[in-house]
Amino acid sequence: MKETKLKIRVFDDPALRKKAKLINRITSEHGRILSQMAASMYEGGGIGLAAPQVGISEQLVVMDIGEGLYKLINPRVVKRQGTQAISEGCLSVPGICIKVKRAKRVWVEAKDEDNQPLKIEADDLFACVLQHEIDHLKGKLIIDYASLLDKLRIKRKLKALKTDAKTCKLQL
Ligand code: ZN
Repeated sequence: MKETKLKIRVFDDPALRKKAKLINRITSEHGRILSQMAASMYEGGGIGLAAPQVGISEQLVVMDIGEGLYKLINPRVVKRQGTQAISEGCLSVPGICIKVKRAKRVWVEAKDEDNQPLKIEADDLFACVLQHEIDHLKGKLIIDYASLLDKLRIKRKLKALKTDAKTCKLQL
């Protein structure tokens, strides 16, 4: 099988704004895409990647915050608790950092590539990444959380967005 490399889409590629489709029937093709997504994520130095970021409008997410690779299909947050605000970067919005207020702890349900149900309880950075990636599936980006001050700060950068700029520690 030919391994095609998945190109990471950058703002303001319309693929990033499309709502990803729920996957009704999980096939080996999804497993293959998840592996390719993981390769792109590691290559980009990211800790999370959602399918819309590589132009695929399906509910697929990979992440690895240094505790092993997760491959999630149709992930959804079923419960949230507390709040936190972490400065987030995004492989699709290079060079931009936004402090995003999110739940501190989340309970997420998903399927794995073998169609088995997954239940994840996550907090802190893990919870942050899960919420960031699930946002991608809804067509939502960190810049949507920008405060008025943030907007002024990033306006020029967004305009001149270049794929090689990368200044934020967390690339999700
Ligand atoms: Zn992102």
